Amino acid sequence: MRRREGESLVDFTERFGLEFDLAVPESTVEHALAVRPTDVSRASELTFARNVFVPLTTACRYTCTYCTYYDPPGEASLLSAAEVRERCRVGADAGCTEALFTFGDEPDDRYTRIHDQLDEWGYDSLREYHVRACEIALEEGLLPHSNPGDLDRAGFERLKPVNASMGVMLETTADVAAHAGTRQKEPADRLRTIRAAGEAGVPFTTGILVGIGESWRDRAESLAAIRRLHERYGHVQEVIIQPVVENERSDFQTPSRSTMRRVTAMARAVLPASVSVQSPPNLAPVRELLDCGIDDLGGVSPVTDDYINPDYEWPALRELAEIADYGGLPLHERLPVYDRYLPDRLRRPDFDGVPAAESPSGSWLTGTIPSALAAKGVHGERFRSVARRDGPLSTPDMSVPSDD
Ligand code: SF4
Repeated sequence: MRRREGESLVDFTERFGLEFDLAVPESTVEHALAVRPTDVSRASELTFARNVFVPLTTACRYTCTYCTYYDPPGEASLLSAAEVRERCRVGADAGCTEALFTFGDEPDDRYTRIHDQLDEWGYDSLREYHVRACEIALEEGLLPHSNPGDLDRAGFERLKPVNASMGVMLETTADVAAHAGTRQKEPADRLRTIRAAGEAGVPFTTGILVGIGESWRDRAESLAAIRRLHERYGHVQEVIIQPVVENERSDFQTPSRSTMRRVTAMARAVLPASVSVQSPPNLAPVRELLDCGIDDLGGVSPVTDDYINPDYEWPALRELAEIADYGGLPLHERLPVYDRYLPDRLRRPDFDGVPAAESPSGSWLTGTIPSALAAKGVHGERFRSVARRDGPLSTPDMSVPSDD
């Protein structure tokens, strides 16, 4: 994104008091606002990952009004190491490659029971326990992908050696009432987190949440900010376009089909081609978004409930196959880390994308992740076969039976 001299900017540094430069040309936002579904092309394939949900804790310092994930103090859960191990073992046995660790943001002082439990188990903080939980997942044959909430660079560097990738939803750069209250989630902190992940060289997933009171301009600015951060660090592997859904805590209306079509096309037009646009089939009308440029269907779990949106079941693998069939697109399983961040020797021979440039921190995958990918035995072979798209578990028979 080159800037011409004298071009007017949307300056997030000034707006949020950021300690780093983050601005996008006004022309990029205006271009995004003009995009319609007919301006973008259908992807050439769809991908998905097989994961097992590991909701390490449902405690969260924030109280976003649309969220059904967090539990208040006294009711929040914390999975034990044995529970983490059991979930991961079942997931690996079922052919998953990813342990999807979900959290709220770092539980604050109100969560005395959570902190007491961690103390009893010998951990100073949830972050340290989180590292151990990721190690357990690796021991059981899964690659962790963690959504740890707001983190600084040191926090990402602590988790990177035990995670194949990580993620945090930006949601929006707008100040919306949905985040209001005494414990308010700040867009500035999300931008700092995405930048910190880039500095640490973490393959990263982010996204926007549609329908929480943001305007069309807010959506365009949010996507442009993600693009700007990716241009600087090269770390954004996918951007989720997620609609808010009605639930018992919120009366936000699910965005209309036409809104989802336009915002999905906007994402495809704003983001570089190498960054996937993901639409979650359990929440969005995916069949009607296929021509708006989506190329990833997110994670599907054959063994556990979706603990983020318990009212919306993850679709089964067969439903993914039906979606791909509906769009006339091939469907491929992928790892939680996208192909272009893999070492050359693990990338499939017919990879037709562009390998990621060198990580700002030296290497995209560190610690135990490279050795897990290279390991002898059933788990390493499963990872490699999914990466190569040639193993018996990488492309199960998902052909849709005809009506004959
Ligand atoms: S959306 Fe995330 S940050 Fe907000 S309350 Fe839920 S778990 Fe916490």
